[in-house]
Amino acid sequence: MKIYLDGKLVEKEDAKISVFDHGLLYGDGIFEGIRAYNGRVFRLKEHLDRLWSSAKAINIKIPIQQKDMEKAVIKTLLTNKLCDAYIRLVVTRGSGDLGLDPRKCITPPSIIIITDNISLYPEELYEKGMDVITVSTRRIKQDSLSPNIKSLNYLNNILAKMEAIRSGVMEAIMLNAEGYVVECTGDNIFLMKNGVLYTPPGSEGALIGITRDAVIELAKNKLKIPVREERVSIYNVYTSDECFLTGTAAEIIPVVSADSREIADGSPGKTTVKLIKEFKNLTRLTGTPIK
Ligand code: PMP
Repeated sequence: MKIYLDGKLVEKEDAKISVFDHGLLYGDGIFEGIRAYNGRVFRLKEHLDRLWSSAKAINIKIPIQQKDMEKAVIKTLLTNKLCDAYIRLVVTRGSGDLGLDPRKCITPPSIIIITDNISLYPEELYEKGMDVITVSTRRIKQDSLSPNIKSLNYLNNILAKMEAIRSGVMEAIMLNAEGYVVECTGDNIFLMKNGVLYTPPGSEGALIGITRDAVIELAKNKLKIPVREERVSIYNVYTSDECFLTGTAAEIIPVVSADSREIADGSPGKTTVKLIKEFKNLTRLTGTPIK
């Protein structure tokens, strides 16, 4: 397997960066998780736009043009002969000294592209649905760190994930400082209630996920379901007709219980199943071709 590292494709064993890199020392960097399906990269431009926005927000100057990053992603997939893959794109601040000061980073930001396969949750959970719990670790307040900066700083989500795992489930619902539902550790959350699809808005502290956008479009345009980006409480989750999570790695996964409360009859909802089907079609038929 070859990794793209600062303009070169190198063997996995040789893909190394400095221990002085501020991405390692301080989580000072950004990333994207992208997927390729059936020889096409899904919403590559949207992912790169978000990467560039994250970079802008933390004042990292990505040392290549967006068009060249697109080419680098495609070249990495081609080199590894991958048509279906998960792509991890990381940009770090670069190498500095042991202090925080980003001005001391004297190397250009490092660009890393890793292509591989991951399945976030066991296959059978996509059929049966997943149990989740609410955890005590709150989502970082957006006036401290905007959720839209996809930074290398995921400790908050990792702590939430650890709580979930400790309780025997695979995913955690994270609340914001006010106690409203925001999202899960690596996915956005949706609810269906009385024929309306709800998801917390960005203003509650959720990342505006690219899968979330795709699902909103599919619900509105294909299934003709009204969608509301509205504040969601944990009570709304318990009493919903359907619940599911979305993310690049997770895709769409039904949720069938929250904090031991069965959601509706405890099986994946009809609309969820329809959206999974529509999303499969969309990902296989659209996207930037790998050629
Ligand atoms: N929320 C968080 C915290 C995430 O890490 C992710 C994964 N990137 C998502 C939501 C889903 O976003 P997307 O659909 O763009 O992958």
